[in-house]
Amino acid sequence: MSFYSLGLSDALLKAISKKGYTTPSPIQQKAIPPILEGKDVLASAQTGTGKTAGFTLPILQILSQGQQLRQRPIRALILTPTRELAAQILANIKEYSVFLDLKSTVIFGGVNQNPQVTQLRQGVDILVATPGRLIDLQNQGLISLAKVEILVLDEADRMLDMGFVRDIERIIKVLPTKRQNLMFSATFSTDIKKLAMGILHHPVHVEATPENTTVDAITQIIYPVAKEKKTELIIKLITEGNWKQILVFTRTKQGANKLTESMISAGIKAAAIHGNKGQGARTKALAGFKDGSLTALVATDIAARGLDIPLLPHVVNFELPNIPEDYVHRIGRTGRAGANGEAISLFSPDETVFLRDIEKLVGLNLPKENIKGFEPDPNASKEPIKQGQGRQQRDSTPRKPKTDTTNRSSNNSFGPRRPSQNNDRRSNR
Ligand code: AMP
Repeated sequence: MSFYSLGLSDALLKAISKKGYTTPSPIQQKAIPPILEGKDVLASAQTGTGKTAGFTLPILQILSQGQQLRQRPIRALILTPTRELAAQILANIKEYSVFLDLKSTVIFGGVNQNPQVTQLRQGVDILVATPGRLIDLQNQGLISLAKVEILVLDEADRMLDMGFVRDIERIIKVLPTKRQNLMFSATFSTDIKKLAMGILHHPVHVEATPENTTVDAITQIIYPVAKEKKTELIIKLITEGNWKQILVFTRTKQGANKLTESMISAGIKAAAIHGNKGQGARTKALAGFKDGSLTALVATDIAARGLDIPLLPHVVNFELPNIPEDYVHRIGRTGRAGANGEAISLFSPDETVFLRDIEKLVGLNLPKENIKGFEPDPNASKEPIKQGQGRQQRDSTPRKPKTDTTNRSSNNSFGPRRPSQNNDRRSNR
């Protein structure tokens, strides 16, 4: 199937070809036609599947064909849980709409609202927003949503996780009742289904099925290592392997900072990204990582959510996540869009329980390889770090504990499929 056969306009086809896409991804093939027909869509898809183009391309087509009002009221509203995701969606929209006369902007919290308000005053057709800032501006009477024709809830499950349900309800109340609704979610818990039922009208269900072949595209390897030697080992791997772009995960914000400092001392260009970092620092770190001026980006799980970092050759778990699902999220950062990738985990004896849970979840006995001089003491304690200690330190960017995560599937269409499981440990973050 081609983008042309999906019925997209020449202006969009030109932009798609400029982006270098040749074939629509499965979610794009399934979601674009019903959206173009004006139907409500409920899509099971996550970052990495090409879902953003899956909803932005048809929205751009619909809006460019509709009647253009001079004052450009907001006609499409895209709600998304995080600032980074919001910024990425806007960047995609800008690229896809380069040959169209449509204006778009983004609003999110954590930064001065004035430039955002100025943009809104000038008129925008498409608004990407995080719920908090949107409500804020709305309460101040600085935004009108009375002309919204299309509503998108992106990463709906994450929005619920982060406690945005009331905000979403409040936003929906001020939208025109006649509108098209699109909802994207990686999981379909009872709460998500309830939300979907309240918003969508006779939705078409679409799903991006993970492709088995791409599981093979991710090489997973576990290096057992003494806890105190992890920093030395990761520096050795990066420098001796001459790695150019590596995403490293730590369990805690403090851990991310400490590791980043050690890397910088060892001459590796590195930056940390976590919940305590301001928006400016996060954006700068991500940009530096993408343009190659940074070799290593050290992130906590929550900070890394939704980040679009294409073609990542290496992902390293400096510490194993205590939530096994996060392992799948993390390794889904490599081997994306069919490219080969390597997911390396530095595993110390105190993480034995975490590894056991991960292997159970992915259904694999992950290959382990000792590196001479770094092997852990065979008598070292296998007791996990105390939950009480961890609770103080974990990255706890506003996020409500999950209560139901049934039917959670993989992080992207290229990663392994995750079986259902409960998520009690999430409440410790
Ligand atoms: P998303 O799931 O929307 O975050 O997209 C994941 C990555 O896939 C992004 O880097 C997109 O630019 C890229 N992408 C989206 N659609 C396609 C496509 N049809 N062909 C190749 N890459 C794509």
